[in-house]
Amino acid sequence: MSELQQLRVDGQRLWDSIMAIAEFGPGKHGGSCRLALTDEDRDGRDLFIRWCEEIGCKVSIDDMGNIFARRDGRNNDLAPIVAGSHLDTQPHGGKFDGVYGVLAALEAIRTLHDNQVITEAPVEVVVWTNEEGSRFAPAMIASGVYAGLFEKEFAWSISDSEGKTLGDELRRIGYMGDLPCGDHPIGALLEAHIEQGPILEADNHQIGVVIGGQGQRWYDVTLKGQDSHAGSTPMSGRRDALVAAAAVISMVRELALDFAPQAVATVGEMSVMPNSRNTIPGEVYLTIDIRNPDEQLLAEMDENIRSRVAAIVEKQGIEAELVEIWDKPPVKFDRDCIAAVSTATRALGYSSQQMVSGAGHDACQVCLVAPTSMIFVPCAGGLSHNEQESAEPADLEAGCNVLMHAMLTLANR
Ligand SMILES: [Zn+2]
Repeated sequence: MSELQQLRVDGQRLWDSIMAIAEFGPGKHGGSCRLALTDEDRDGRDLFIRWCEEIGCKVSIDDMGNIFARRDGRNNDLAPIVAGSHLDTQPHGGKFDGVYGVLAALEAIRTLHDNQVITEAPVEVVVWTNEEGSRFAPAMIASGVYAGLFEKEFAWSISDSEGKTLGDELRRIGYMGDLPCGDHPIGALLEAHIEQGPILEADNHQIGVVIGGQGQRWYDVTLKGQDSHAGSTPMSGRRDALVAAAAVISMVRELALDFAPQAVATVGEMSVMPNSRNTIPGEVYLTIDIRNPDEQLLAEMDENIRSRVAAIVEKQGIEAELVEIWDKPPVKFDRDCIAAVSTATRALGYSSQQMVSGAGHDACQVCLVAPTSMIFVPCAGGLSHNEQESAEPADLEAGCNVLMHAMLTLANR
């Protein structure tokens, strides 16, 4: 075994770094509340940058607040091999979602630094701004701008619930950089992340080799019946939009089961008008979210949503307006990046399986413009976006070793 193959990260230092970032915006129940571009987010970023500069990395920040910390290689004309994720969290978020991917990349580079390993291409850690989309919707906005999916002016203009815009908040916390977002080259991007689902834990595997991300479509549905007196309107002939909504909710669940095992479908939001106990509801607004990793099956689910909603409203004697507001095709990660991850996993002797990401990630945006893949590690009970989110130090260390060796492979090819 060569000296390089024997290189291992420091799992304790990785764990301690994750816990140190969690000090900024601690949650009430053991998790984190570090919403994008708040003072807490700034403090976490500041500490991250200090750590990067301590090991001689050069830091650049783009005008979406994305941070790139670079360790030079032998040939600095080559595009860098980049790894990272995000430091912002949900309001009731955990300590690991996003943070792990950033600090695993930093730990990989710290290990290279400690052992004076010089890569051929430069290696970098990236922190993407506002991945969660909790304070500023939509999610993954800064990696989306990087990938050309959103206009920068649109992203800057998004406001939070208090009317503060993303652009102003970037400036306020000192993270509106000079570098135009999208101009910074990426030779390849790797993102390590907790799985946020139960599959690795159930299958007793330490590493998920992620080959792509689900496609998803979002719909706004308005069901239009007629408000009417709850006492004097007979049961026959009612045009009850909420009864139709109940049928739509059941239908959405059945649809996902009809397209098992990969499909998921959810009604997560609903409002009832006029929302009065003695008036038959004349109008209901609800959302539908469908996901499938297979493009063809996702298109079939879409056709089914439309025809089944039409059948329900016809039966109830009401009308429906169904608007598709988002169509994100499934993504396939890069062959060489996937191979680098699976080869490293095998060489390190970790048990693994191939999988598709159920959640959206920055990597799922950037993969449209740069070769990309992801590494998953288990989290307890598959729980995430929850303060109880937890992961085993040994699994985090394993994922970090895989990340470092995959980075080495890609940087030295
Ligand atoms: Zn995340």
